[in-house]
Amino acid sequence: MPLHIPRSLYDELRIHGEQTYPHECCGILLGKSDGDALHVTELIRAGNTRTDSAHNRYNIAPQELIAAQRQARKSGLDIVGFYHSHPDHPAQWSPTDFAEAHWFGCAYVITAIAGDKTTGQAQITNSFLLTGTTEDDKSFTNHPIEIT
Ligand SMILES: [Zn+2]
Repeated sequence: MPLHIPRSLYDELRIHGEQTYPHECCGILLGKSDGDALHVTELIRAGNTRTDSAHNRYNIAPQELIAAQRQARKSGLDIVGFYHSHPDHPAQWSPTDFAEAHWFGCAYVITAIAGDKTTGQAQITNSFLLTGTTEDDKSFTNHPIEIT
């Protein structure tokens, strides 16, 4: 069940992480699920509300999430994923990322950004699919990204 994403949006989410470095960026991915794959067709940048710890935490404001849902519905799309960056950390989910992931069937895309504390360069981008049906049986599974 790969994540299909156009090159332009893939580049945009990576560039977003470079722009907010050394803070985390975050955003929402809209598209469609056909059962076998998630297809991203739109990207919405979100502001990171975690000003207390923006280098290693992200949070999307509820208002931004609601606006994204409204935009998706208007276009006949769904929220299919979320993305954020890991400044100076690997592109692997953290225990906090896992604890705060609640959208089953959605992709959680993480880009590692390496830099010298002022400018960052996007490194590896990985996607993890949140599987399961409840908080008790949820898990992240590696999710191949296919750039279309
Ligand atoms: Zn994270």
